[in-house]
Amino acid sequence: MHYDIVVIGGGAGGLELAARLGRKLGRRAGRERVLLIDRSVFHIWKPSLHEVAAGTLDAHQEGLSYMILARRNHFSFTLGDLVDFDAAGRSLSLAELLDDDGRVLVPARTVSFTRAVLALGSGSNHFGTPGAESAWVLEQTADAERFRRHLLGAFTRAAFSERRQLGIAIVGGGATGVELSAELLEAHAVLQEGFGAEQRFRLDITLVEAAPRILSALPEKISKQATRALERKGVRVLPGTAVTEVRPDRLVTADGEIEADIIVWAAGIKAAATNAGYGLATNRLNQFIVDDHLRTSAPDVYALGDCAQCPWGERSVPARAQAAHQQAAYLARALLAALRERSVDKPYVYRDFGSLVSLGEKRGVGSLMGGLGGPNFFVEGLVAKLAYMSLHLDHHRAILGIGNTLVLALARLLQRRVSGRLKLH
Ligand SMILES: Cc1cc2nc3c(=O)[nH]c(=O)nc-3n(C[C@H](O)[C@H](O)[C@H](O)COP(=O)(O)OP(=O)(O)OC[C@H]3O[C@@H](n4cnc5c(N)ncnc54)[C@H](O)[C@@H]3O)c2cc1C
Repeated sequence: MHYDIVVIGGGAGGLELAARLGRKLGRRAGRERVLLIDRSVFHIWKPSLHEVAAGTLDAHQEGLSYMILARRNHFSFTLGDLVDFDAAGRSLSLAELLDDDGRVLVPARTVSFTRAVLALGSGSNHFGTPGAESAWVLEQTADAERFRRHLLGAFTRAAFSERRQLGIAIVGGGATGVELSAELLEAHAVLQEGFGAEQRFRLDITLVEAAPRILSALPEKISKQATRALERKGVRVLPGTAVTEVRPDRLVTADGEIEADIIVWAAGIKAAATNAGYGLATNRLNQFIVDDHLRTSAPDVYALGDCAQCPWGERSVPARAQAAHQQAAYLARALLAALRERSVDKPYVYRDFGSLVSLGEKRGVGSLMGGLGGPNFFVEGLVAKLAYMSLHLDHHRAILGIGNTLVLALARLLQRRVSGRLKLH
């Protein structure tokens, strides 16, 4: 198999890129120009994973099939797990995939390319903390689905237990930890409404953060507002608390131990260790080091999103969906120009449109940047929540078009009204 452009990883950035390129190239020249590779058969926008984990979003309703998206957007899709990448030889290897019974579902293959884009995302950073690998993580849809099933079991057990209490400790007070806390509270509240008084139980969530405040990457006002909102709902917020060890039923910190029935690790990101073995320049987080044109250290090989370290002034572009979204738009232009033997001289410049954090179904908090990068508007409540939701819609618009995005949003709204907000089965 040979393709002009291969995009590896169909996440927030890679899928948008493949869709943009496919719409420009696929229709005219058959399907063999743009290939998207992912190890999953369906796509879920990663910032929704805390909702899948809490059961407030149904992964099977939310998931979009790569095959259908490929057909609509005129790119090709293949299921595969990248295991080797040869930049000089312009080829990559995909491992065989097995089904649940251990039989070969997809054989190992090699794909050759003229240009490639690595859009592999990231996983968790355990910072070498002993036992952290045993905690729950939200790296992939499968993790969030497994967590949801475990959570439902734990909710049910707690409802019939003597103690009538469930303790969840979340390590990491970044957006993932904060949003997951809020979403778990909502799931619990919905469940309590459906239970009789004799089955009601208490949910104790502890949010542990090593930095002096939660949401430390965001302005202090947002952090204070989120802390207040979570504490008002009963979450124990523990900033300035470094976890030194994770045990099956507790966290060990310098100040003592925190007991919990469920422990979630959401304390930072790190890209796959295998990235460092492809002969491309990488950093200590295994991210591919790219320049301000998103070029890796090898010619015609690019990287975007969480798996790339891209310069942003003195800093690096943050690992966010809005960065992956912008980089996909930039690379689409750059690659289309490259196919015409032209180059895009303008570098990629990250534009920060602010940060929004969801605090449940109708509440959010965050800051929105004005026209040209400032001033910074503080938003909260329903306005912030609606702005937060618009990011997701923007992603759908990039891969489905405006009409289909609106139909999908309406269909999901109606479905929720009928089936309820919590996936309990
Ligand atoms: C719970 C949660 C909440 C978040 N909330 C926000 C938010 O509110 N705002 C925000 O801006 N960001 C948020 N983020 C961060 C955001 O999700 C990421 O920055 C963004 O998804 C990065 O996009 P990406 O395309 O680089 O990677 P991803 O979206 O992670 O996609 C990577 C893709 O690569 C595929 N892949 C990985 N390895 C292989 C392989 N070996 N072979 C084949 N395919 C592979 C994966 O299956 C996946 O589809 C959140 C993250 C989480 C976990």
